[in-house]
Amino acid sequence: MDAQWIICPVCKNKTRLKIRKDTILKNYPLFCPKCKQESLIDAEALKVSVVIEPDA
Ligand SMILES: [Zn+2]
Repeated sequence: MDAQWIICPVCKNKTRLKIRKDTILKNYPLFCPKCKQESLIDAEALKVSVVIEPDA
C-alpha cells in the first residue's frame, strides 16, 4: 500500500502524519512539530491541499 508523510505547508518538513492513497481528509487540523503551526488541510489520493479559512 502506498503511503507517504504529509509535508507541512508552512515549513515543508515532514510531519508525523502519514496518509495512504485511499486516505481522505477533510478540514483536518494538521499540526507541525517543527514549526509549531497548525494548518487546515484536505487530502485525497495522496494530494494535500491547504484549506484557506475566510476569517484566518
Ligand atoms: Zn512546519
